[in-house]
Amino acid sequence: MATVCVIGSSNLDFTVSVPRLPGVGETVSGGTLVTSPGGKGANQAVAARRLGADVAFITLLGADPMGDRLAAALADAHLPAGPIGRTSEEPTGVALIAVDPEGRNQIAVAPGANHRLTANHVRSHVDLLAGAEVVLLQLETPIDTVRWALAEARRRGKRTVLNPAPARVLPLPADLLRLVDYLTPNETEAGLLTEREVRSVDDAEAAGRALVARGVSTAVVTLGAEGAIAVGATGVVRVAGFRVEAIDTVGAGDAFSGALAASLAAGAPIEDALLVACATGGLTCTRRGAVDAMPTREEVVALMKRNDRWPSSAWLKGWTR
Ligand code: ADP
Repeated sequence: MATVCVIGSSNLDFTVSVPRLPGVGETVSGGTLVTSPGGKGANQAVAARRLGADVAFITLLGADPMGDRLAAALADAHLPAGPIGRTSEEPTGVALIAVDPEGRNQIAVAPGANHRLTANHVRSHVDLLAGAEVVLLQLETPIDTVRWALAEARRRGKRTVLNPAPARVLPLPADLLRLVDYLTPNETEAGLLTEREVRSVDDAEAAGRALVARGVSTAVVTLGAEGAIAVGATGVVRVAGFRVEAIDTVGAGDAFSGALAASLAAGAPIEDALLVACATGGLTCTRRGAVDAMPTREEVVALMKRNDRWPSSAWLKGWTR
């Protein structure tokens, strides 16, 4: 049985490098089109799988060539085909991305089939949720699906991880936050969720405390190159980022959440899970793309070794130093 059940989106990303981002009504001509698999659910499922977790990914693709392309990429990543559904009612989810030479981007998303990932659809795969240690969700699928899956996971005694991304202006309702064991916002998302500015480690800790007061068991705020901080009822854990040569930070947050879920499912204590997640997020920044940028366990192990930062405990079965 799978140990991590990821429920979420799959998109095909269409990316064009442009000399500068277009303004309203403007056309900017750029480089060659690059298409690559992405979507927060797919990114996180592949991140967890490459770390060696047994992953079931419940997602919905369109019955179109873009869906074929994504299905092939997910199969290449050794994700089982069973819960990867197809619908002819909507096209496959698509993200249109323009990137400038400084790496800044503009993204327009057409969710398509991802919006058809209903609670009923997930219910038809409830055995996968029941067989998991950790259930991982994001906000690119309908909020009712997220709420249902969190409640079902909680009812069955599973640990839940919610990556509250993409950032939404609407606050997440308290009844939903109470179902979350680990909430993993970045600084922007932590700021929006708590209606405050989050620019420093101290701000992130304060936002984490506010989220815990609203019912989350542990708030894990990611801090880009600075790493991450976890705030829970029993205390605060801070892990510094790994120094890497970052060329494209797309997917870093997804790598982090996927790795956190994989480590927790393997029995890691929170400080070790944060360390592995920071290494995984950091490595993702050294490569272009989203799904394609997710590192393997061997690469994560090598980065931790090079930096002489190694998890403390015996939970890492099969990980050799
Ligand atoms: P998001 O991608 O959601 O904006 P972050 O930028 O906080 O999230 O990145 C998530 C994680 O990826 C961080 O906690 C960190 O571990 C790692 N990371 C991101 N950017 C860098 C960087 N420039 N150098 C090293 N690690 C990074």
